[in-house]
This record gives sequence, structure tokens and C-alpha cells, in this order.
Amino acid sequence: MAQLVEEKQAAPVPPRPAPRVPPLENAPRSFVKEQLVLAKLGWRALTGLAPKVAWKAAYLYAFKGMLAVNAYKRRQKRGELYPPFMFIALTNVCNLRCHGCWVEKEGTAHYLTPEDIDRIIVTGKKQKAYYYTLLGGEPFMYKGIFEIFQKHKDCYFQVITNGMFFTEENVRKLNACGNVTPLISLDGWKEQNDLRRGKGVFESAEKGLERLKKAGILFGTACTATGPNMEEVMSDAYVEHFIKQGAMYIWYYVYRPMGSEMHDEYCVSREQLVWYRKRLLELRRKHPMFVIDTYWTAKGEAFCPAAVGLGYHIGPQGSIEICPALSFAKDTVRDRGGDLYATINESEYLRGFTKFVKERTKGCVILEYPQQLHDYIQDSGAKDFSGRGTAFKELNAIVPRHSQHMPENEIPEDFWFYRFLKSQVFFGMGAM
Ligand code: SF4
Repeated sequence: MAQLVEEKQAAPVPPRPAPRVPPLENAPRSFVKEQLVLAKLGWRALTGLAPKVAWKAAYLYAFKGMLAVNAYKRRQKRGELYPPFMFIALTNVCNLRCHGCWVEKEGTAHYLTPEDIDRIIVTGKKQKAYYYTLLGGEPFMYKGIFEIFQKHKDCYFQVITNGMFFTEENVRKLNACGNVTPLISLDGWKEQNDLRRGKGVFESAEKGLERLKKAGILFGTACTATGPNMEEVMSDAYVEHFIKQGAMYIWYYVYRPMGSEMHDEYCVSREQLVWYRKRLLELRRKHPMFVIDTYWTAKGEAFCPAAVGLGYHIGPQGSIEICPALSFAKDTVRDRGGDLYATINESEYLRGFTKFVKERTKGCVILEYPQQLHDYIQDSGAKDFSGRGTAFKELNAIVPRHSQHMPENEIPEDFWFYRFLKSQVFFGMGAM
């Protein structure tokens, strides 16, 4: 018997197959070709966007975005904490049930009140923050969404959506507002995308894109790169398709195993992450489209937008959270009699997070230190706002892995245009 047990224990563990890393092009650089890409991008903006849309994007998004970052830098020097950008989850309600999504849609439906939304935006304006990312759930299922755009004409809104709501009427309204850029989430060609998001979703979103293009709306596609789909979603054919469809930018995320339904098989290995970084640079040099990542600065150093105080997430219950992936909060937008500036500036939880990250990494602490992060959040007295009541358990169950932090192996931006945007305009702020 003992011998049997010994034999059992000694049984070799079958080696896990090494993740596949596709080859890179490694094509020789051409200065002329790269400038041509920029010229084509300019031409596309000039000829493809409605004049009002283009003007509002240039003024409200690019110019005011720069002012917002400068004001943020001044606040930092004074030791004040208030972000130049804010993610606002209008509701947790959604019409789809995508695999791997961490938003709880089955329980109570929550909606931010119009007063909460006004408070966030009006407080932001006083700090020169005019750019807001609206998300959900599905933000277009929030009834008053167009009123937000109309009421705050001096702000610019990015709406992260599944693309199912671009009816003729909604597109006409978006065009009339002009201060909105939809970011449509699609995770691969029809087969891959619908596997994750549901049957018929790709085709329905494509119809929406056609309407947006026809109306001259500035829009982009968002793509979560996973181990299995990254070669597909970063292929030339994929990017070219969305250029043809009228998208001006493509925004790549890397999958994070969060929520009640974590998919380890979607996670990206370190080798794949290096490939992802190098491939981003190749795509930027080749395609007349903004190729955006949220992980590296112009020098190729990793950074966490929340840790440097560039942006926080307001959940549909008004909770002030570190980022969309971490639905824990100690403060809400209604605290201190609704003085949001004081609530954020004096938040020990948010300030402590910066310190927590600084002591460990430049990358993502969710991926690298999930258990220590769990303890930090719990010890801070933050509550679970996920709606599931299981978010602490889920965070604690994450298997630690590498993130975008690759010390000694940083890969800097090699195209002057992106280097300029990251270092001067957007400060590597998570946009680009
Ligand atoms: S903690 Fe991770 S997911 Fe959240 S903002 Fe930082 S890098 Fe992004």
C-alpha cells in the first residue's frame, strides 16, 4: 500500500503547454512610410468626420484634456488629490451576458441619479476636468444619457458600449450633440466575439458602426486581448477592417481575471505580453488609426492610472472606487454633504492605494499582489459594492501573475508621434 502511495506521489505532473507566441513582422522601419500613415490619419479625420464632431473633439477632448492634465499636475504639486478623468458607471443593467464580465447584472438594478451625475461633472469642471468616460452595464440603457450630453455641452464624453443601441434615431441624436465618442467593445471576428458576447452580437454591432460612419461620428472599437484571441485582434486584417468601417481608434485592453466568472484560459502569459507590446508598436507605424493602450508611458514604463490619481471609477450606487475592476469603496459621492472634491482629496482609501502600489510595482496590483490587495482593501474598511457580496473572496482567489511591469525590459515608444502624445499631451495617462 505504502509503495502504491509513493508511486502515486511520484507521478510526474504533465507539463503545461507553453503559450503560443506568434511571430512578429520585424520589418525594416521607413521614415517616409510612417509620415504617410500620419497624413492618411489626418485625411481620414478631415473627410470622414462631421465638421461639428471634429471641432468638438479637437477643442473639448484634445485641448481641454491638456488643460485638465496641467491642472492635475499643479494640484499634485500642492499635495491635492482630484483626478483629471473620471469613469462613471451609470448603471449595472445590461442586455448582454458576456463571459468574463465582472459587472453583476442579475441582482438589484442600480442607476446613478441625475443629481449624482451633475455633482460629479460640476465638481470636475471646477478642477478643469471636462472628460468623462461613461460605462455600465450598458450605458445606453440609462434613460437620461442624452440629457447628460446636452446639459454639459462644455464636456466631452466617451461611452463604452456593446454597440447594440445605434438606431437611426440615436445616431442622429449623437450627431446633434457632437460631444460624444462611442467606444464599441468587440473581441475578435464574428466567431470569437459571439462566443464571448452572444450570438448575433458582431453583426448587430457592425450595422451600428455603418450608421455611425455615415453620420460622421468619431468612434473607436475596444478590444480585450486574451491569450487565445490576441493574434486575431492584433492582425493587420482586423485593424484594416475597422478602419474601413470608419473607426478612428482602437483601444486594446488586456484581460484581467476578475468577478464571479474568472477565465484563467483568457489570461496572457509574460511572453504573450511582450509580443502584445511589440505588436502595438508595429500597428502604430502601419495603420492610419490611433492605436491606444492603457499600460505603458512613452518610455515604455508600466503605470497604473489609479495609483497616480489620474482617474477613479464611480459605481452605479455612487461608490468611489479605485478602478472599474475593483468594486470596493469606503466613500460615496453623497458623503460630506455632497462635497465630492473634499471626499476624494481626503480619502485615506484612495491615497493609501497610491502608497500601496508604489511600495510594490509600477504595474497592476490586481494581477501581481491580489492577496495583499485584498488585505489592504479589507483593512481600510472599504465595502463590497459589486452587488454579489463575494468580491473579497473573488479577489483573494486570483492566482498572482505578472502584469505590464517589466523592469529592465521596457520597450519605449519608437514612433515620434506616439512618443509626443504620451509624454506631452496625454502624459501616458491611460489614453494611448
Ligand atoms: S489596479 Fe490594475 S486594472 Fe486598476 S487601474 Fe491600476 S493597472 Fe488598471
